[in-house]
Amino acid sequence: MAQSDNLHKFQPYKEKKGEEYMSPNQLKHFEAILNEWKRNLMGEVDRTVSHMKDEAANFPDPVDRAAQEEEFSLELRARDRERKLINKIEESLEDIKSGDYGYCKACGAEIGIRRLEARPTATLCIDCKTLDEIKEKQLYS
Ligand SMILES: [Zn+2]
Repeated sequence: MAQSDNLHKFQPYKEKKGEEYMSPNQLKHFEAILNEWKRNLMGEVDRTVSHMKDEAANFPDPVDRAAQEEEFSLELRARDRERKLINKIEESLEDIKSGDYGYCKACGAEIGIRRLEARPTATLCIDCKTLDEIKEKQLYS
């Protein structure tokens, strides 16, 4: 998946001894990750749009046309997911500015550097996230 490809290029953050959680250096580290990720995603969206403009060409054969429409709708759905992800990234960048980044939105606990590196848009600590998933499962089963 493109998401993890983009994220694995980063050097894991090495905390200095006694460094406080979400120190200015850590915030800079995550800001860089989020910005880079966002740039990659936005590049994807642009590429699809121009690709679709080029290829929106005429296929006289209805079978070809149907196949092309199918392909486009899959791409559009993927782009839609990317746009939502870009929104989440922007929210995380806002959180960095306001000082909320890295803390669980539900209980206020530290989310943790390693977890944030794996999921830079995480807004819940692992406990609240697990609880959330259990609740969701109960709701839909
Ligand atoms: Zn929590």
